[in-house]
Amino acid sequence: MLEQARQISEWLVTTRRELHQHPELSLQEKQTAARCAGVLEGMGLRVRRNLWGEGFIADLDVPGARQRVALRADMDALPITELNEVPWRSAHAGVAHMCGHDTHMTCALGAAKLLLAAKDRLKRNVRFIFQPSEETPPGGALGLIERGCLEGVDEVYGLHNNPQLEVGQVATRTGALTAAADSFRITLTGRGGHASRPHETIDPLPAACALVLQLQTLVSRRVAPGVPAVVSVTQLTAGTTHNIIPDAAFLQGTVRTFDEEVRKLLEDGMWAMADAAGKAHGLKVSFNFERGYDSIVNHASGVARVARAAAAVVGEKNVNVEQPAMTWGEDFSYYLQRKPGAFFLLGSGNRAKGICEPLHSPRMNVDESCLSLGAAILAQLALD
Ligand SMILES: [Zn+2]
Ligand SMILES: [Zn+2]
Repeated sequence: MLEQARQISEWLVTTRRELHQHPELSLQEKQTAARCAGVLEGMGLRVRRNLWGEGFIADLDVPGARQRVALRADMDALPITELNEVPWRSAHAGVAHMCGHDTHMTCALGAAKLLLAAKDRLKRNVRFIFQPSEETPPGGALGLIERGCLEGVDEVYGLHNNPQLEVGQVATRTGALTAAADSFRITLTGRGGHASRPHETIDPLPAACALVLQLQTLVSRRVAPGVPAVVSVTQLTAGTTHNIIPDAAFLQGTVRTFDEEVRKLLEDGMWAMADAAGKAHGLKVSFNFERGYDSIVNHASGVARVARAAAAVVGEKNVNVEQPAMTWGEDFSYYLQRKPGAFFLLGSGNRAKGICEPLHSPRMNVDESCLSLGAAILAQLALD
């Protein structure tokens, strides 16, 4: 499969550069979707456009096949100005593919091309899912699922490029691969007044300061040692000057967990502590816990398939199935809550060439030789 993929590498590079040059933000992926759907229709696939937003699915059917494997690519870019000085640099001011979703789309389009050429060996139907709005919660995955993108699907796979992983390497893990990334906001409201007469006020500051420290005990005292979890208070604001006790104090921050039980424990624990701080100091408390994407939980059977397919392309020694869990958020989680499968990282970095800027950096770049590898692995997953 790698040999065939290398033969189309020029086409892959051209396709990726075209997509790269014309990035579109979440829920605005009109041209991007039209371009990709057009390519797949041109290959003879059955395309259902605008399934949810600009999201679409494309089916490659094999006579007599009963099973269907789905391959997902995300389409949106980021609100960021690209700083790479390349001829195919983003042509849209303030918008760029700095998460490399152009790479994902190209790998999926490449896989379709490879599978068509290998159709006589294909025993399962294939569905390509082109998803809008991965970067902006609530994300496009849930919308597409509600509109039936997983109907008739037996397994689902997806990849993310990673410039901090060398090209030619693949990494994944069974269980939680990415974090649930939630945020919280707490407002403690008392009654402000003159700083010289605190007894006539209800001062929110001592309670807010105590609460910041107490929240830190949730991870150290309530979560089992060895279970990863993060509570970070990232903002604490109150008051305006030296002689006024303010009305209110405001806290916000982030919570990262890899397990639903721990997530719930932290949410409940934070609320209980905020509520208690309010009661103890006579303050009114408003607590808001906003859930981001759920954690991607890879199925063991899916990881085994990814490992087999990737090993066939990049060699067994370049496949790591013990990738430590990462603190990114990704809405691929919602596909895996409904169907077996796995998500994996495709190495797209090249330290020797200076390609190692992280995702979301304005200088993020990929080594384009990852395109044929990604296309070959996706195709191999469908053939397996
Ligand atoms: Zn991203
Ligand atoms: Zn991304």
